[in-house]
Amino acid sequence: MYETVDHLLAGPPSGASEAELVDWIAGLEEIKCTAEAVQAEAAVRLDEVVRERQSEAGVPARKLGEGVASQIALPRRVSPEKGAKLLGLAKTLTTEMPHTFALMKAGLFSQWQATILARETACLSLDDRKVIDYDLCATGPCGEPAKAVSMGLRQLENAAKKLAITLDQESVVARAANAEKDRRVSLRPAPDTMTWLGALLPVKDGVAVFAALDQAAKTAAAAGDERTRGQVMADTLVDRITGRSTTDAKPRIEVKIVMTADALTGDVDQPALVEGYGPVPATWARDALNDADVFVRRLFTDPAGRLVAMESRARKAPDGLAEFIATRDGGICRTNGCDAPIRNIDHVERHADGGETSAENLQGLCERCNQAKEALGWRARPGPDGSIITITPTGHTYISPPPESWAQPPPTWSRAEFGLRDVLLEQTLAA
Ligand SMILES: [Zn+2]
Repeated sequence: MYETVDHLLAGPPSGASEAELVDWIAGLEEIKCTAEAVQAEAAVRLDEVVRERQSEAGVPARKLGEGVASQIALPRRVSPEKGAKLLGLAKTLTTEMPHTFALMKAGLFSQWQATILARETACLSLDDRKVIDYDLCATGPCGEPAKAVSMGLRQLENAAKKLAITLDQESVVARAANAEKDRRVSLRPAPDTMTWLGALLPVKDGVAVFAALDQAAKTAAAAGDERTRGQVMADTLVDRITGRSTTDAKPRIEVKIVMTADALTGDVDQPALVEGYGPVPATWARDALNDADVFVRRLFTDPAGRLVAMESRARKAPDGLAEFIATRDGGICRTNGCDAPIRNIDHVERHADGGETSAENLQGLCERCNQAKEALGWRARPGPDGSIITITPTGHTYISPPPESWAQPPPTWSRAEFGLRDVLLEQTLAA
């Protein structure tokens, strides 16, 4: 096996024929599938080993397994949330879906295909799940290939859905009702200073929102509005939610923009940063500051392009400092690979271990990462350059680099000019 893997990974020989090149791609695809299966096995075993260690150390039963998801996520370079999902999938595959797992190990089924099957059968009883596992992924009695292997992703999903409904309609309906609890709104950056605003909604609500916007577009078009249908729908969405079109009610919406003073005055064009979005051109930031409808908080950076720091003796970071850390860290959890929004501002080196409540020793973390680092055997310390060094119970070290220096101010910039009080200068430009 190793010989084959090494041979394939070395790449096709020069002058390889078309057919050889296709074989190479196929062979590597198999390796990827098999590797994902073996990673799943290793994850399940890691979970067992960690629980054993924690149990021996007297960790209470309800806390056993804490941090495992992060220990899987860090080397796989994904978020801890994804790490938890991968571990869950690994357990399901190795214990409840033997045929699906066998296909993966044989290099015929990817982790993503397996995820679809696991997801679509999650609401079923173990017996029903095994029926679907067998029906779609077992090799035929005369060695016929499993049905699932030749299916596209959509076909696979539909086949699993259909079987699930046939086997246990009630559970599928109950799960749909339960899914409504997950309704939410999300924001993610798009290219060209644009952003995607998304909402996960029950079908009726999603369709109703879209129909209302569509209606607004039709009305506008009938009145001779020259904007496109998409533009009217987007504008109407913002108008109605923020109330920006009504002149008497000033919207209480805050946008945080971090930029140097020179960029603000227009002397230089260093990129600014919008919290929750990312870097934007200085001209865009200046326009936003002039936009009378938005309540803007302007924040300045120090000579290194980082937000200025302050210290406190308190165990809990004071509001101003906490807000400062959240902005400094760009609103995104500091853990490597984790893209989740910051929910907690916490000490890098524990307060109980003598860690200071200072900007250097504080970090913005999502809930899950904040919990993981409290698990037995985890340590962290701030690096000299603003980085954060995390050491997991196995001794593996991960370095979270200092937050991006989005703005490079001129060298004459002095920290004294803008202390934190000035940094957190608040401006109501709507007035
Ligand atoms: Zn996180």
